[in-house]
Amino acid sequence: MKKRKKRKIANPLRFAVGVALIALILVLCVVLIAAIAGCFSAPAPAVEAPEETSAPTAVPTASPSPTPEPSWEEQRLSSIEHYVRAYGNCPDEAAIEARMAKMAIDPEQKMVAFTFDDGPRTGITSQILDVCEQYGVRVTFFIKGDNIASHEEDLMRMLSLGCEIGNHTWMHTNIEELSASEMREEIGKVNDAIRERFGYTIRLFRPPYIKYGDKGSETRNSLVALMEEWNMAIINHTRSTHDTYDSYNAEKIYSRGVAETDELGKTLSGSIILCHDKQQKTADAFKRIVPELLERGYQLVTVSELLHYSDDGFHAGWIYSSAK
Ligand SMILES: [Zn+2]
Repeated sequence: MKKRKKRKIANPLRFAVGVALIALILVLCVVLIAAIAGCFSAPAPAVEAPEETSAPTAVPTASPSPTPEPSWEEQRLSSIEHYVRAYGNCPDEAAIEARMAKMAIDPEQKMVAFTFDDGPRTGITSQILDVCEQYGVRVTFFIKGDNIASHEEDLMRMLSLGCEIGNHTWMHTNIEELSASEMREEIGKVNDAIRERFGYTIRLFRPPYIKYGDKGSETRNSLVALMEEWNMAIINHTRSTHDTYDSYNAEKIYSRGVAETDELGKTLSGSIILCHDKQQKTADAFKRIVPELLERGYQLVTVSELLHYSDDGFHAGWIYSSAK
């Protein structure tokens, strides 16, 4: 009984002391945290430059560090080198360097962009690429999406030779017959397949049959909006080689390919020339066209290269028939 009484008196005392101790510890903790926080936050502005702005995290990006964005030309060469290394079958660094040396462009020299639609086609596209490799020239291929899976070798070779891949829809569809959402699907599928397989971004679209609606039509408006959204341009042509005409043999195709002016008086320099990599006669003509034009001082470049060095430049949503 006595013990019980003693405890009853002792426990409240102990309890009070305990509470006091805990309170003291808590107060000390708060004081300590406040002191530490003060150490890190308060003196900081004093250490920094007097005109320091409010956000210290902005310092690394806001500083005018000497790391400018790579130029278009640097990006172009680095992309080509990537594909030369990946798909170029170059045995050593010297071979890569030799390949890259052929990618140089002289902006002051005449340029022309040859384009090949509807491929790749087995046995024909490879001949066009042989010519590109032999002479170190580049062209643009407006491919059909449903040819991608069966022609990966041709596509890899295009990229390793610095050639450009453009979009010619998945099934060679007349986009004037499509709704806006069908158009998105038909064109977007090709971009996606090429990006997924090769990590390559397509920038150019050539409408099949060169049909893309009249100015102000729903087709035209939808297409231009899509091109702007995807940072792409629509590529018409300055001159056709008429290589799909039955009456045009290799000789006639060659003549149209190299003529300084066409029947409309359009000059070859700055032109976008339409061909198709699907018939032997076109390949035969191209084998003669290239050395002839090189002899005359022309550079054969891709459409994007031609546009980049033109006064107009590349603009998403624009329609180009030539480079001005
Ligand atoms: Zn076509």
